[in-house]
Amino acid sequence: MKISGLPTIRYDECLMSWLVRSASSIGEESVLEYANSLEDPDFDLTNKNVVGFLSGLGVGEEIARGCFGARTTWLLPWENRAAYCLLCLQEDISVGGSPYWRKTWCYLHCPVCVKHRQLLVVADPLSIGLQKSWVVFIEECNGRYNRSTKCRVPWKQPSAPDGVTMLALRVQEFLTRAHISNFVRLPGIDVAVSGEAVLAVTRLLLESFLFPRLRRSLGNGVARAMQTGFPRTSGIASIEQARQLGCSDGHVYSRMTALILVGCVFKLFPAARFNDVRNSLGLTADVCSGEAYDIGRNGMRLSSVTEHIMIMEGGRKN
Ligand SMILES: [Zn+2]
Repeated sequence: MKISGLPTIRYDECLMSWLVRSASSIGEESVLEYANSLEDPDFDLTNKNVVGFLSGLGVGEEIARGCFGARTTWLLPWENRAAYCLLCLQEDISVGGSPYWRKTWCYLHCPVCVKHRQLLVVADPLSIGLQKSWVVFIEECNGRYNRSTKCRVPWKQPSAPDGVTMLALRVQEFLTRAHISNFVRLPGIDVAVSGEAVLAVTRLLLESFLFPRLRRSLGNGVARAMQTGFPRTSGIASIEQARQLGCSDGHVYSRMTALILVGCVFKLFPAARFNDVRNSLGLTADVCSGEAYDIGRNGMRLSSVTEHIMIMEGGRKN
């Protein structure tokens, strides 16, 4: 989409990404002022300040929603939107453009780049400000020449074997279909199932798999095994807070693991495929077979009745 005098809005581009690329024309000060005044400068397109700011640039409400609107409500919080695909950024530059941040990278259920079929990588959130696409790109380039970068080791995620990424991608694509279609097909079931129902069940599962446990003995969420050295339970005051925290974490390996467990429950692939990759996932609970019952019994084990009620209510709300 071309707006007079400003850079073309790219496919799947975040609003802040485009505003930062437009800063030399709009004025850096006003972009900063705009961003600092909002809780979510990317997706809060109904906010009067956003609508007013964009219409001043010649971007009407309908165009803004069409170009910058989120395709899901499953958004990571602004400060946790740090995962990106380096190959995508490199391609932007190779065709003579500036790298831009994709909306898809901000979605909870999308830890894999669909185009390059690889797990996203996470930038050190302390190093990324408004101009995050350039910052991460430059850091990657520096890293290649052994110059110091701001991406410290704890933020480097373990790399996933191809087979694992492919299984997660299959589930990610299924959930993307469930977001945009009224009905989706499940393997082995003749009738189509409501996309909304699939999403409600999936949300419940994700909240459970990514839930930071409040009792140490039960681990830190079945899908969080690769999340070492990063205490998830410190500072959490309530179960509700913990439930929100689980699904707002940008850690791509945990999200990928959780997707594979969701795929097992919906039987999107044979249990044998799960067994092939199970060891790479390092699950904290003893989930062995990839059968829904097994996952339900071990993967959704909650620490108290109160926790159970909170999770069930949360699943219904979303
Ligand atoms: Zn990519």
